[in-house]
Amino acid sequence: MAELEVVVGLEIHAQISTKTKMFCRCDNDSWDKVANVNVCPVCMGFPGQLPVLNEEALRKGIVAALALNCEIREFSKFDRKNYFYPDSPKGFQISQFDEPLSENGELEIGGKKIRITRLHLEDDAGKLTHVRDGSLVDFNRAGTPLMEIVSEPDIRSADEAEEYARVVQQILRYVGASEADMEKGMMRFDASVSIREKGSKTLNARGEIKNLNSFRALNKAIEAEVERQTVLWDAGNPQEEDFTIGWNDEKQEVYVMRSKEGSSDYRYFPEPDIPPVVLTKKEIEKLRSEIPELPAVRRERFVSEYKLSDGDARLLTVDRALADYYEKVVRICGDARLANSFVTTILMKHLKEELIDVGEQKVTAEMMGELLKLVVSGEISNNVAKGEVFEEMYESGKSAGEIVKKKGLKQISDTSELEAVCKKAIEANPQAVEDFKNGKDRAIGSIVGMVMKETKGQANPAKASEIVRKML
Ligand code: ZN
Ligand code: MN
Repeated sequence: MAELEVVVGLEIHAQISTKTKMFCRCDNDSWDKVANVNVCPVCMGFPGQLPVLNEEALRKGIVAALALNCEIREFSKFDRKNYFYPDSPKGFQISQFDEPLSENGELEIGGKKIRITRLHLEDDAGKLTHVRDGSLVDFNRAGTPLMEIVSEPDIRSADEAEEYARVVQQILRYVGASEADMEKGMMRFDASVSIREKGSKTLNARGEIKNLNSFRALNKAIEAEVERQTVLWDAGNPQEEDFTIGWNDEKQEVYVMRSKEGSSDYRYFPEPDIPPVVLTKKEIEKLRSEIPELPAVRRERFVSEYKLSDGDARLLTVDRALADYYEKVVRICGDARLANSFVTTILMKHLKEELIDVGEQKVTAEMMGELLKLVVSGEISNNVAKGEVFEEMYESGKSAGEIVKKKGLKQISDTSELEAVCKKAIEANPQAVEDFKNGKDRAIGSIVGMVMKETKGQANPAKASEIVRKML
């Protein structure tokens, strides 16, 4: 039997980070609000109300599109996408049909290009909750500003789809276009899945899996849909019509919902209440110049500039605030490798345990930089810094200098002071002394170990080792 190949295209809906909704002045934060309090006549679609395009949403949409390497159209417009469903108070969605904000982007995922068809703007619908004797509707989300990012069917596996979605999320966060917090429904995926003989160019009938709201669900749902279609294919009865597919997260199963609606079902027509968006080249270039260094570029720079491994550079650049933090620490203490080891191991361990971001804890980049300066200058040892000092800084928010002073943690580099302790350690370890004299160089480690123990880690280990050698 011929080998099969998976073909996936993704639509990503991301909530744009703005103060207000897309076309009215309602708060663009409905998270955790009582139902139907965050609404007004505009987003409720009352007759005679006029929507006004949110300029901040437009600007952030352009920035996101540019960061995804899209071309911005100098002329774009909004259209009505008509459908009748209780979650839509207007009876239509305001979206962009044939003249979207941007087109022809691409992203590189693991050395492979995934083409991006378009990024356009639209508003979100309300939320239905189905209960035993009916359905409840909450319009708080109605009118939330969204960008829809559509990829070409260039993705070849569930894992590749997940990787692409993660990179998009990272980029949207870097440029501040969306918080893309999946827990809060700020980012959702629709995946179009089909299969074909490997090497074939045809696009077969697809299943469009709707409304996936986690990376895991995206990955698992694609796998399940591929499996569903493969069973049909193997039975000599391949799917011949496009279907809309649902995902049951509890059962980890896909199910066929309905045959897919085509664009003609929506009776698109130009939105009469919103003027077209007309941009000049200059305006577009100005926004392009405001885009920060993007994660992939920054990662490469971290490897070349700070001599970090690709893995560490990846860890540090996942989050823009963390990458900024790291660079600030390096600037203060001057030691990129030391900063890397403290940020990626000690600090990130705490962040992971508590599921918080770097900005949500007490040790600022300045404080971390000052701590590492003490290590670089030899005032405290690496171990003391990593252990006692950092832990107390993290707990109390006190500065490294204050803690070192209060606890008397200064590293002992003073020769006469060290000599006394070394002498004691040598006397207490006759076996190690004999081993050393018989040529076992490593035996010196147990003597220095005792010196460290006696001084509660405050001895300068290099200096102690040097003294012990001299004495022997
Ligand atoms: Zn409103
Ligand atoms: Mn959409």
